[in-house]
Amino acid sequence: MDLTLSPEEAAFREELRAWIEANSPGREPEGDEAAFEFRKRWQRELDAAGWAGISWPKEYGGRGASLIEQAIFNEEIVRSKAPPMANVLALAMGGPTVIAHGDEDQKERYLPPILSAEEIWCQGFSEPDSGSDLASLKTRAEKTDGGWSVTGQKVWTTFAHHAKWCMLVARTDRDVPKHKGLTYFLMDMEQDAVQVRPLVQITGESEFNELFIEDAYIPDENVVGGVGNGWMVAITTLMHERATLAFGLQVQVQIALLQLRELVIERGLENDPIVRQRIGQLTIEAEVLRLNAYRGLTQIMKTGVPGPEGSLGKWQWSEVNQSLTEAAMEIRGAEAPLLESDWAYRFLRARANSIEGGTTEILKNIVAERVLGLPRMGAK
Ligand SMILES: Cc1cc2nc3c(=O)[nH]c(=O)nc-3n(C[C@H](O)[C@H](O)[C@H](O)COP(=O)(O)OP(=O)(O)OC[C@H]3O[C@@H](n4cnc5c(N)ncnc54)[C@H](O)[C@@H]3O)c2cc1C
Repeated sequence: MDLTLSPEEAAFREELRAWIEANSPGREPEGDEAAFEFRKRWQRELDAAGWAGISWPKEYGGRGASLIEQAIFNEEIVRSKAPPMANVLALAMGGPTVIAHGDEDQKERYLPPILSAEEIWCQGFSEPDSGSDLASLKTRAEKTDGGWSVTGQKVWTTFAHHAKWCMLVARTDRDVPKHKGLTYFLMDMEQDAVQVRPLVQITGESEFNELFIEDAYIPDENVVGGVGNGWMVAITTLMHERATLAFGLQVQVQIALLQLRELVIERGLENDPIVRQRIGQLTIEAEVLRLNAYRGLTQIMKTGVPGPEGSLGKWQWSEVNQSLTEAAMEIRGAEAPLLESDWAYRFLRARANSIEGGTTEILKNIVAERVLGLPRMGAK
């Protein structure tokens, strides 16, 4: 692992930094609708300048950037405090899944409106009784003329209230082992058979939703990767979720740590031995997270695909981010619950970090079995 940038990579950073400075979108407005429209506009600007599909191949409208350049991109975006792009689930997961498993018609139809944020995507995997054990899901798709009729319920569906398309995994065969009877569909959300109900989180926001699906229609051409191959296609989506997001997240932690140090100084606690020890420990953990993110990157460069190591970064990030926001609340003392501070929001939002994108327990199982090579749970 060589952490020094080549002259080309350094030039790439300079070019990007100058572009962000010249095109900074400013402060995000308050309110879900206004903030989402703001993120869409920001994504359109990035797309027009060729930055939105940073990791996507050039032939599909992306920039075809190397992994190091993608890491630089994530770092610079976070460092500049620019908002995330609106279509984050499609850019990081849906698009790469269609690129990997879709046919040429699907690539032509779906990829351009992802980049331009014209069509927002959501991920319909989890169900009320199937989260960690995703393969046990019950939403079923029955064959009809020219397509499929889908009935079931999904839950925790982020951005479903904004989405045109849903990456939906449904059971198409109940007579085979659970992993083999699944199919990956792109479901049009704009039909009466799909009802979206918001769920309010501890932060007061409704980032995610319940989906009630009653005889929704999906044409045959919206099957991705072939009938019965849904598990393999879904794994591609999940690997991209953990690997692509990991790099930006570790930079967010570095920035939050700097802000925490500012808070300590502002409160005159910089000589308090307990606070110093806490900040020291968090600094070590953030550095481990950063180095592991580079290690994950090196692994992808060797194998060409994100591997199970992404699970380690996601697990570590959720722990560091939760400890960091807890430390900020303790340092703010009696003022901690006052919501006018960004720290109160971050503390509450961080609770979901160890659940979203795979719970910490599940990630530990993956690291144990697939990175360390320990025997599978329950194996004799
Ligand atoms: C903010 C947020 C956004 C989300 N967005 C989406 C989305 O857009 N689309 C989507 O499909 N899903 C989404 N999810 C759902 C998320 O993927 C699930 O919550 C997660 O996979 C856990 O599933 P579950 O909630 O059903 O918990 P369960 O699977 O029921 O787990 C309950 C508890 O049991 C533990 N557990 C379960 N199995 C094991 C095991 N084998 N070994 C050890 N411990 C185990 C878990 O770690 C957990 O602590 C989101 C979740 C959050 C919090």
